[in-house]
Amino acid sequence: MGEYIKELPDVFSEFSEQRRQSFLTAMEYKKQGKPLVGAFCTYLPMELPLAAGASVVSLCSVSDETIPAAEQDLPRNLCPLIKASYGFAKTDKCPYFYFSDLVIGETTCDGKKKMYEFLSQFKPIHVMELPHTQSEQALQLWKSELYRLKAALEERFHTEITEEKLRAAVRLRNQVRRSMIEFYDTMQMDPPPMSGMDCYNVLNGAPFRFDLENLAKELTELAARLRERGSLPERKPRILLTGCPIGGVYKKVISALEQSAYVVAFENCGGAKATHELVDEDADDIYEALARRYLNIGCSCMTPNPNRMTLLRKMIEDYKIDGVVEVVLQTCLTYSVESGLIRQMVTKDLGVPYISIETDYSMADTAQLQTRLGAFTEML
Ligand code: SF4
Ligand code: SF4
Repeated sequence: MGEYIKELPDVFSEFSEQRRQSFLTAMEYKKQGKPLVGAFCTYLPMELPLAAGASVVSLCSVSDETIPAAEQDLPRNLCPLIKASYGFAKTDKCPYFYFSDLVIGETTCDGKKKMYEFLSQFKPIHVMELPHTQSEQALQLWKSELYRLKAALEERFHTEITEEKLRAAVRLRNQVRRSMIEFYDTMQMDPPPMSGMDCYNVLNGAPFRFDLENLAKELTELAARLRERGSLPERKPRILLTGCPIGGVYKKVISALEQSAYVVAFENCGGAKATHELVDEDADDIYEALARRYLNIGCSCMTPNPNRMTLLRKMIEDYKIDGVVEVVLQTCLTYSVESGLIRQMVTKDLGVPYISIETDYSMADTAQLQTRLGAFTEML
């Protein structure tokens, strides 16, 4: 009998269920005594926990369920990502937070770094000091923070992070990155081979897989199958999403856009921002290579933030983008301010239509988004 090959819709729905399903795997891991590290941000150099034998899981919450509980401690005018993540942790409703032996945070935006102080009241937390520029001095500071994280992981997990283990982790994470890129690059086809919703479900589910070698293999195979299947039948305007992480709002945003367009590119964390650059595997100084790669991330907490502009320009060209949609989570100051610069570059330099929307994790603005985003895609 030949090997059973899953239908593509089944593969997509498996990835979309991954976040929910993986907590059983996390529980199994804990029973076997394997360490788990919780992360809130793309700046965490995941190779270090991996080299310490730990799996990394994202703790960024995507539902507004626990926001009222969070607002008992935190101010209301804080972004929904911070409030939801803190709320799930505080109310013990996030299995990944519950199972995490250590949470690692970085000093990115002010709200997040102050939230860590509350979190440290009920979970061991290690906060890395992230510089907010990408100068050579900043690189040296960030590199020293990688060494400090190494020491913290070694102490907590009673292990030694050797150079050999770290280089193996770098190669493995690069392999996952390459396969993610192969997968989402299929959206450069015109029309794309799948909807933006299917694409994002895979991107969103992949970080909840702990079997990294298999994940890389599956994503590469999925990319090959999509190329073989070819484009969807109808041509529609091609949208790029940028801005804040969209895990908690993607369903309403993508469905509103895909009434009459395809979302073909995701620049946000969760998409290209987190994945597009590899770590130099052959560098003599692997810590410096790691520090450089992670410091290069184009988050709006950097000032200036040229790498976001460079990546956006490249993606707008590579994916033949007809319109750019910036998603700003309510009260996110850095992305909100930076959106003015993005608008300037996209509309004035590149002549591409742009719209910025502000939203939160509730469903209250669904109809309004459908109207606004529908009107935007209609005019493309
Ligand atoms: S947008 Fe910035 S702060 Fe938020 S997860 Fe990404 S890198 Fe971290
Ligand atoms: S969305 Fe903005 S305010 Fe919220 S955690 Fe990210 S950078 Fe901070």
